[in-house]
Amino acid sequence: MSSNTTSSGPSVRSTVHGYPRIGPRRELKRASEGHWDGTVSARELDAVAAELRAGVLDQLREAGVDDLPSNTFSFYDGVLDTAVLFDLVPSRFASPAAAGDRQEHLRRYFALARGEQGAPPLEMTKWFDTNYHYLVPELSPNVRPRLVGDKPLAEFREALAAGHHTRPVLVGPLTFLLLSKAAEEAPQGWRPLELLDQLVEAYAQLLGDLAAAGATEVQLDEPILATDEGRAHVAELDRVYRHLGGLTERPSLLVSAYFGSIGPDALRVLKESPVEAVGLDLVTDDEGVEDLVKISGFGSTRLVAGVVEGRNVWRTDVPATLAELGTVLGLTDELSVSTSCSLLHVPLDLDAETGLDPNLRGALAFAKQKAAETALLGRALSQGTVTGMAGGGAEIPSFTDSRVRARLEALGPDAVRRPENRGSTTGAKLNTTTIGSFPQTPELRRARAAHRRGELPTDEYEALLRKEIDRVIALQEEIGLDVLVHGEPERNDMVQYFAEQLEGYATTQNGWVQSYGSRCVRPPVLYGDVSRPEPMTVEWITYARSRTDKPVKGMLTGPVTMLAWSFVRTDQPLGETARQVGLALRDEVADLERAGIRHIQVDEAALRELLPLREEQQQAYLDWAVESFRLATSGAAPTTTIHTHMCYSEFATVVDGIEALDADVTSVEAARSRMELVRDLGERGYRRSIGPGVYDIHSPRVPSADEIEASLRLAVDHVDAAHLWVNPDCGLKTRGYAEVEQSLRNMVEAARRVRADLG
Ligand code: GLN
Ligand code: ZN
Repeated sequence: MSSNTTSSGPSVRSTVHGYPRIGPRRELKRASEGHWDGTVSARELDAVAAELRAGVLDQLREAGVDDLPSNTFSFYDGVLDTAVLFDLVPSRFASPAAAGDRQEHLRRYFALARGEQGAPPLEMTKWFDTNYHYLVPELSPNVRPRLVGDKPLAEFREALAAGHHTRPVLVGPLTFLLLSKAAEEAPQGWRPLELLDQLVEAYAQLLGDLAAAGATEVQLDEPILATDEGRAHVAELDRVYRHLGGLTERPSLLVSAYFGSIGPDALRVLKESPVEAVGLDLVTDDEGVEDLVKISGFGSTRLVAGVVEGRNVWRTDVPATLAELGTVLGLTDELSVSTSCSLLHVPLDLDAETGLDPNLRGALAFAKQKAAETALLGRALSQGTVTGMAGGGAEIPSFTDSRVRARLEALGPDAVRRPENRGSTTGAKLNTTTIGSFPQTPELRRARAAHRRGELPTDEYEALLRKEIDRVIALQEEIGLDVLVHGEPERNDMVQYFAEQLEGYATTQNGWVQSYGSRCVRPPVLYGDVSRPEPMTVEWITYARSRTDKPVKGMLTGPVTMLAWSFVRTDQPLGETARQVGLALRDEVADLERAGIRHIQVDEAALRELLPLREEQQQAYLDWAVESFRLATSGAAPTTTIHTHMCYSEFATVVDGIEALDADVTSVEAARSRMELVRDLGERGYRRSIGPGVYDIHSPRVPSADEIEASLRLAVDHVDAAHLWVNPDCGLKTRGYAEVEQSLRNMVEAARRVRADLG
């Protein structure tokens, strides 16, 4: 395509799949938390939400996007909204007494998400391989899907009243059911998918209502199609969309998949269905276009090409994308351009970042900028012109560091291998320890904020941190734990803390992204070669160690987790970047050893989370994940105990990987699975030590010594007690001191009892 041509091209419209909803200043977080505290009324909360929704539509309009989505807002989560919309709520959550009572409706909604007296919340889990979490609907044969809410309709009407004719966005029925779980009361073997036909009827009614209200197009999100599970349900996909497509009173349908390609089978089914448009993620893996060629293109089905990356922060390379779209144009009669997925996963506005290096800034785009890029691509294709694209090609500056590269190249195979025989430092049975953090008190949080704003001098802030370490060490000694921690009071976040100290990483001021509900995180940006200018943790650990004769465990965040919770450069494979982080951590491990630290924990909380959605890509991932961890830890002396920690217990898919990490001690979440993991590992003949979490730190409940003792007795049946560690199932930073103290006392007491019996 030549620039400045005036001949007009095909008519190509632009849209986005979704948009951040927390607001430029996290207004939604403030308002919902206020509502939970009782300081913000239902009416006030609704007013904030309406203003945020209006703001989103205005921003998208201003960015030049042609087709605006609605119903992308949520007070907590879109899957939860869908469950409530179709009355798929467990009976422990009482229905509102009066149907129209807004206060009551919100109470029940937030109870589903956060729990209330006598009714634990729905389980929360990661949305595919992102760091966003959704609430898992609990279904059983006793529920009957029916349309009881009007959220999509109300938000469509609200937008219409403001002059925007929008496209309501819904979670698709197949994705909804495949992400749901069977409630405890459901019969063995029953699957939520058995509700499919009934649920589709409820969707049909909703589509009819939306059509009657004037909606001309509705988007149904089916990201499950990018997973092996989704790909295995092509027959159901066919059934659902033949049925919905066959309705007479309906808007046109856009079925959208993202987070990966969906494969030729699903493409063919959608092409042959009555569905008018299909959205594909053409960024995440590059099979999408090939697969389209395989099915000889889409013909009259409109292709909504997701070419602007929705979950990373780099600018789109406009000329390259236009070239790609040129190919795609031949595969469909009608084309729209869009983002690869909802922009929910990136921060709102790059304009709010004033502190970034201008070179780096020039390479970035947040949601607002990405919406503008999408609009630009649509215009460029329609008008057959590429004017108005100042600096259209993203010139990502190369931040390379030849020293890092040379060091990595010089490493031999021994750099990732520890000796087979390593001296266990204690040889004791049922060692007790914790995962690292102790409660972050309000006083600590306030001090950190004040220090950040420059209102609290560094020496005063650090004195406070030392005081906190004193208290944490004294408490652990008094309780009688064996391997102590310093409590991580200096860390705001286990990734950001290191990102701030590593070369190659930048942190943002306002780059908030919703993680779940009102919780937002600010992922750092890993833009260049990573290195460690100086030790990052040694000072604090050394201080802690000077306060006790017991061993103190050093605490680092592993390479995979450092990548998983950051926005990472895409100009080289993730495995390369992970190796660089591994190397920096290897230096830190060496410095910790030099300072006399004999236990070092390298957390890989996100090992499972980054696992590719499709099995065929998983081994290659595990290979580099394992290698980077081993690079970080294999320089340690045979007498140093390397610990690692992971935040989940469904290990089936990664258990080989965990073995391959070759850590001396692996602590995991197990409190809720009755030590099944320990049994599995015992049966596999696992050679290293394991610390199954003996109590659930996600709940304020204090476990009794008896109940922890019972768990430990189960565990020692399967694994030699010298290879068993006793610990909570995650860090304690979100808990209060009162519960933590009592829980740890009970834990130590339980270990003492079982040890006494073992003799
Ligand atoms: N060491 C970290 C802590 O204790 C681990 C946190 C995590 O696994 N998410 O807080
Ligand atoms: Zn954890």
